[in-house]
Amino acid sequence: MSHRVALPEQVRYHAKWVLPITAPAIENGTVIVEGETIVWVGPRDRAPAAQGDVRHDELGNAILLPGLVNTHTHLDLTVMRGLLEGLSFFPWIRTLTAARTDVLNSNALFESAQLGVVEGLQHGITTYADTAPDPAGFDAMRELGVRGIFYLETFGPDPEQCDRAVDNLHRTMRALDPKATPLVGLGVSPHAPYSVSDELFTAVAKLAVELKLPLATHIAESEEEQSLVVDGDGAFAAFLNGRNIPVRPRGRSPIAMLERCGVLSSRTLLIHAVRADATDRATIAAHGCGVAHCPASNAKLGHGIAPLAAMLQAGIHVGLGSDSMASNNQMDLIAEGRLAMLAQRASAQRDDVLDARTMVEIATLGGAKALGLAGTIGSLEPGKAADLAAFTIPVGANPVYNPYDTFIWSMAGAPACRVVVAGRERLRDGQVVGCDTEALVSRVTETAARLASWKAQRG
Ligand SMILES: [Zn+2]
Repeated sequence: MSHRVALPEQVRYHAKWVLPITAPAIENGTVIVEGETIVWVGPRDRAPAAQGDVRHDELGNAILLPGLVNTHTHLDLTVMRGLLEGLSFFPWIRTLTAARTDVLNSNALFESAQLGVVEGLQHGITTYADTAPDPAGFDAMRELGVRGIFYLETFGPDPEQCDRAVDNLHRTMRALDPKATPLVGLGVSPHAPYSVSDELFTAVAKLAVELKLPLATHIAESEEEQSLVVDGDGAFAAFLNGRNIPVRPRGRSPIAMLERCGVLSSRTLLIHAVRADATDRATIAAHGCGVAHCPASNAKLGHGIAPLAAMLQAGIHVGLGSDSMASNNQMDLIAEGRLAMLAQRASAQRDDVLDARTMVEIATLGGAKALGLAGTIGSLEPGKAADLAAFTIPVGANPVYNPYDTFIWSMAGAPACRVVVAGRERLRDGQVVGCDTEALVSRVTETAARLASWKAQRG
């Protein structure tokens, strides 16, 4: 599939509501795009006179905003949506890992990842921060013309495995590097404290600095992880002990452990950060790290509620993440934002915690800042990349008093009607451009049947 179609000289997107994020909402607004770039944003009746070749895109009763930024995905696991229900975290992650190795070849992973991007596009997501041990998500993002960072994961809980893991990581990064594009870049990700030794964390942090690569890690997610790091105890400790891997307390908190290993010095993306106390939050903010906040995944797996409001107060750049479809079941950042607000208010027992305007910002510019991409995306401003998402306001979301409230409180589940990445249309009228979605779903369904019988045999 080739998406290198010639761009018209100028496209004008007109919508009932335009949310530039860095400026107030515009009623009856227009965004003018030339090539890959936004050149003008403002009220339609004040748009500069059109000259030359202009196409008008009438979006009607819609909210037009920057493309949504998903700061945490495992696109290749989309095929596992619904496979692992009812398992608690430790068997959940072990079954997931085994299923991946035993059943999924690289083509199955690629198709699964493509389905993930298709779903994201249908929900207005233009940027993906994907982490995986195989480059399926990297290939899928490039294939479908979206923006993203692919963080190649590395594992090795035994310090003895460190040198080999770093060599492998370095070699794979060199092989992937020529395939990176202006839209889809590369990063590295030491997976998590229960799957990565301090030695490997330290070595990957050094490699990231050396290769000038962004860094991401799963951190402070579960109680089991906390017990392992703080006390050298719990389910993960028992598992590692069973494999004769040394276990000892590694810090006063998972965040403190990362700081000690040098992992926070690359404006690292911290995935989850559910267990981040005031000291941890100050540490994260001081290092300029971003946080991928995944409220649905954290709630579904029983990990808890990350201190979102307190993280924002500490000045941390927070974006929303769906996490994998094995731990969430839908990639909808509007629903994620709504849940984030509800969870913060319910746990604080206050009605003045966060507001819809802030949540829309987190889903766009906040995510861009967390990924270090705010110079390019996250707001509708002249000079920024033309990454846009438009959502028709559903009948049941009317009337509109305030478009931010409408978007977050009333539009979860609403499909995007138009998605543009770097000036190129990726979704029009619900259809992903250049993808036979029906055929893709049937191929992924065949893989799912293989996964189901594998799981049944495993018992
Ligand atoms: Zn994850």
